[in-house]
Amino acid sequence: MTTDSIDTSVVVIGGGQAGLSVSYYLKRLGLDPGNEFVVLDRGPSTGGAWQFRWDALRIGSAHRINDLPGLDALGLSFETADRQAPAKEVVADYYRQYEEFYGFQVVRPAYVTRVENMGANLQVTFNDGHGDQFVQTDIVINATGTWGSPFIPWYPGLKSFAGRHVHTTEYTDAAEFAGQKVIVVGGGTSAIGFLLELETVAQSLTWVSRRPIEFLEDGELNLEARKSAVAMQDEAARAGRALPSIVAGTGVPRTRRIQAGIDRGLLQARPMFASIEPNGVRWENGSFQEADAIIWSTGFRPELRHLSPLKLREKEGGIVVANGTAWKDGRIFFAGYGPQASTIGAQRAGRTIARQAVATLSRLKREARDLADAEAPPVFVYHAPAPEPAAESPAPTELDYFGDGDARDSVVPAVDESTPEEPAAEPLEETAAIILDDDDWMKPQN
Ligand code: FAD
Repeated sequence: MTTDSIDTSVVVIGGGQAGLSVSYYLKRLGLDPGNEFVVLDRGPSTGGAWQFRWDALRIGSAHRINDLPGLDALGLSFETADRQAPAKEVVADYYRQYEEFYGFQVVRPAYVTRVENMGANLQVTFNDGHGDQFVQTDIVINATGTWGSPFIPWYPGLKSFAGRHVHTTEYTDAAEFAGQKVIVVGGGTSAIGFLLELETVAQSLTWVSRRPIEFLEDGELNLEARKSAVAMQDEAARAGRALPSIVAGTGVPRTRRIQAGIDRGLLQARPMFASIEPNGVRWENGSFQEADAIIWSTGFRPELRHLSPLKLREKEGGIVVANGTAWKDGRIFFAGYGPQASTIGAQRAGRTIARQAVATLSRLKREARDLADAEAPPVFVYHAPAPEPAAESPAPTELDYFGDGDARDSVVPAVDESTPEEPAAEPLEETAAIILDDDDWMKPQN
């Protein structure tokens, strides 16, 4: 498709698990991809955040990667993918095939820099590498994930450190830390994964965490067990507090490999240091550890800079989202944030958000028509006597009711709720401030 001038009904920002899942359901609901909805993705390639994950993260060492809706129609499933293959490659490949199969026509690279309220519609500005392009749309579904917004907490002396600060997003390979003194910060499973990889490579390894690690007896972290932690997040969000870590609520599974790491003293976390000095870190009791590198597995924040012209943020710093839409502007939807920030959460959110977006679209169109009718000058209309209805004439449909032949208006009531292969839609958190915490996702290999 050409990208110089686009006028569409829905813009989906982000082509990761959340954006693709939303796209699948938008298409199912009757919207034409590349025409009635447009997906803009920064890219550079398919795979969302997964394309940037480090090589050592294999399909078998990631947490469960949930299939996209309708992936089975391609004969693909992450369940049957090669467990030794790098997750980044498999996910990028499956997503590419999925996009092609469903004809989503994802625009890539398309870096969205601004979303602005133009009154009756929204204007999305994106850069495709050649300059700014503009899209006029009724609705924006934001599915930009968090990978592009790494978070490093501030500690005194942070900038004075003479070694390397490395966030999870910058970690590529254990070999680059060969012979170095390394501090790993964070209480999630990515921190643990790095410690296990670096153990035989680094000269010294120190693990610090701002809270004690709860190791679970259960070898597998059940994603569903996250629900109570998610509820705690939601409660905190409603109260305007910082969100607690998901992993703090669910713990870290004590796999055989992790247990062995605990037994040999590798996985013993020290409390957080108090300050950073040019050559290392210092604890409150005065003890000091030299360091060449500090690896920060300290999580992410949602990537929302491009929404700032809409002024959706509360003074507490978050955006209040009610039923998937911004409290301050019901035309802006969010997919894949907070409690939905997993492949399964993003997949389920796709269905709910797509339905709500299409319902909102129908309402906006109807209101626009009503307004246009109200403003139209009165005209004399001759009403011919109504003809007798033909015996076989079909019952009025929603399409007839809306009367403009716009398929979008008919699709909301026409959704088949009983489609057996779809999981029941997860009720969205009624209100959730979308601030994320630790990255607690990578499960070290057994
Ligand atoms: P992403 O995959 O990040 O996709 C967002 C897309 O939006 C990207 O393509 C990005 O380029 C694009 N984008 C961002 N900003 C813009 C912009 N301004 N303009 C245009 N495009 C933009 N979840 C699991 O279920 N299982 C796991 O095993 C797992 N492992 C993880 C390991 C790590 C280290 C981390 C950090 C997370 C892990 N997760 C895992 C969570 C994981 O991030 C989500 O499951 C999933 O990738 C989120 O999908 P998404 O579509 O919301 O975000």
